[in-house]
Amino acid sequence: MSIAECYRSNKQTLSFEVFPPKKDADISKIYEVLREVAAIGPDFISVTYGASGKERSDKTVEIAANIERGFDIPALAHLTCIAATREEIGEILLKLRAKGIRNILALLGDPIKGGSAGSDYAYASDLIRHIRENYGDFSIGAAAYPEGHIRCEDFSEGIRHLRLKEEAGADFFITQLFFDNEVFYRFLDIARASGITKPISAGIMPILSRQQIERMIFMCGVSLPSRIIKLLYRYENDDGSLRQAGIEYAAVQARDLLRNGVDGIHIYTMNQPDIARIISSYVSARDFKQ
Ligand code: FAD
Repeated sequence: MSIAECYRSNKQTLSFEVFPPKKDADISKIYEVLREVAAIGPDFISVTYGASGKERSDKTVEIAANIERGFDIPALAHLTCIAATREEIGEILLKLRAKGIRNILALLGDPIKGGSAGSDYAYASDLIRHIRENYGDFSIGAAAYPEGHIRCEDFSEGIRHLRLKEEAGADFFITQLFFDNEVFYRFLDIARASGITKPISAGIMPILSRQQIERMIFMCGVSLPSRIIKLLYRYENDDGSLRQAGIEYAAVQARDLLRNGVDGIHIYTMNQPDIARIISSYVSARDFKQ
């Protein structure tokens, strides 16, 4: 079943994100991670993609193929176009197709040091349109930003850009992390009122450490509610308790979202299977739409 069909079946999805190991890292580690997260039974697993570099793209393809073949779980291969030509994107899509992968998260990608010379795509919507028009057998996801994208200062412009992705052919959306569910509900209301109809999964990333969270807020422009700031204060000198409290906070967020009818929950596992396990076990079958 494609991921688009999975959403169409009207169930709330549970999905996980993993990332390929860094250069020179032990590749077998990711397969241990996959074994553990696959055992939880997600609807799909996504694999991130570096903004540049053949090696990263090959790893994304290889890991996504392993998810499909080894675990019989749909894989969502991230694909960025910031420094890519149509020919390069076409080659990767053919590789994915040959490996039986039919779900793409179509992204612009983060800017690359030294510019993005040679790119045939200005925005993710250009990539989405290219895939929709030329590779019709793929189901296509795209990124959404409940607090707006960091480079887009006008929130309603961001909503317009999201609608352009749907018009270009996106089948579903996955959001950037956020820590305040009210922010997500507001965004969802505005998106729906603006005519965006496709399913939107909520991206959940737990706080694991102060450094991690500082990096994320400046990279993504997300806000920190006072409840999180108080956790950071309370566990200033206790990394283990902060990690545990961060995962619990994310689990509570996930349960509230499911009970409020969200289309899906996408957990950024950061390749740490206990994150997926704890959050998934906190939400029970009763929290999902029957
Ligand atoms: P776009 O939709 O192209 O948006 C980029 C910027 O351009 C935004 O500010 C937007 O508002 C603006 N814009 C869009 N359309 C127009 C238009 N027509 N006119 C003017 N402005 C416009 N990055 C990676 O490198 N690898 C990954 O694997 C990866 N996975 C991700 C997964 C998720 C769920 C999310 C939310 C993000 C992910 N990213 C990843 C990060 C993403 O690549 C960056 O946030 C990137 O800066 C924007 O990507 P986009 O696809 O949303 O781009």
